[in-house]
Amino acid sequence: MTFRTRYTGLIDKYRDRLPVHDDTRIISLGEGNTPLIRLNNIPGDLGKDVDIYVKYEGLNPTGSFKDRGMTMAVTKAVEEGSKAIICASTGNTSAAAAAYAARAGITAFVLIPDGKIALGKLAQAMIHGAVVIQIKGNFDAGMELVKQVGKEAPVTIVNSINPFRLQGQKTAAFEILEELGAAPDYHCLPVGNAGNISAHWMGYCEYHEHGIVNSRPIMVGYQAAGSAPFMRGEMVDNPETVATAIRIGHPQSWDKAWNVQKESSGWFDECTDEEILAAQKMLTEREGIFCEPASATSLAGAMRDIKSGKIPEGSKVVCTLTGHGLKDPDTAIKQCEGSNKMLKVDATLEEVKKAILDNM
Ligand SMILES: *Cc1c(COP(=O)(O)O)cnc(C)c1O
Repeated sequence: MTFRTRYTGLIDKYRDRLPVHDDTRIISLGEGNTPLIRLNNIPGDLGKDVDIYVKYEGLNPTGSFKDRGMTMAVTKAVEEGSKAIICASTGNTSAAAAAYAARAGITAFVLIPDGKIALGKLAQAMIHGAVVIQIKGNFDAGMELVKQVGKEAPVTIVNSINPFRLQGQKTAAFEILEELGAAPDYHCLPVGNAGNISAHWMGYCEYHEHGIVNSRPIMVGYQAAGSAPFMRGEMVDNPETVATAIRIGHPQSWDKAWNVQKESSGWFDECTDEEILAAQKMLTEREGIFCEPASATSLAGAMRDIKSGKIPEGSKVVCTLTGHGLKDPDTAIKQCEGSNKMLKVDATLEEVKKAILDNM
């Protein structure tokens, strides 16, 4: 029997490509190394000859890609002697900040929009012992407050304006390139603050510049229609969408993301909440993969562009599924309300047997 080396997180794996020193104390929960799953059924459903892979970032330790950035941000905060971190969050950043702060033994302060946070994310921030500050305002208002308070209190900001966040997140692109052995033709992501699409592009460019691969993908960013500043070409003041993780009207990586679009010859587009929810359901029912609504935006957009031919047949497409479906159980249950697969029967053999035979 041969023993394999234990996976100890993305900083350890990619330390040569990340801003850490040999003696840096690494704050890790084993993040990264997420599966790249090839869709078996959906391409056929679309009637198109395309290869679609989903990068299932929901399988990170706290259930979203935010862990990739947070391991770096908290590692560096601790290295610099910080005793507290702070973030504004639509939910997943606060969950990751809370967990990594607990791991490091420092305090996390998280500002979340009052009411509009998915249940699982709130539970995570609370159970890890973060100080949860609910504000009567949306993410964009919270982000402004965090930027101001960061200047006046001894706290390290761990939103994606912290450059170490994007350094950690670029490793997702490395993993994809290593697994596919080459760049995909298209890489589709949901876009909120646009940090993640920018980080992926950094990763793709780094391996390309160093001659590890000889091509880069076309980057495609999809937003929710009620929250689509990149489509409008300007900031949006009252963003609304069921995809709460991307309910962001004032993206922090605005210039970076436009640059990605130009350099990669990509585009931005928007999806309605109906399209997003339909894609989420399709993934669960047709492929057995459960992601949160925001994450399904990447596939919703990709499916539309594949159907229209904008993404041509023969393409290899990667869609990032940013967060796990269990983050937002309320939306999942709502998706199934009124479904004829939710039956209530008497506790008798006869009734249960009937329920089975009627539904074979
Ligand atoms: C944070 C987040 C996004 C958006 O990522 P950005 O870097 O802000 O564009 C998308 N989906 C989920 C689940 C997220 O948590």
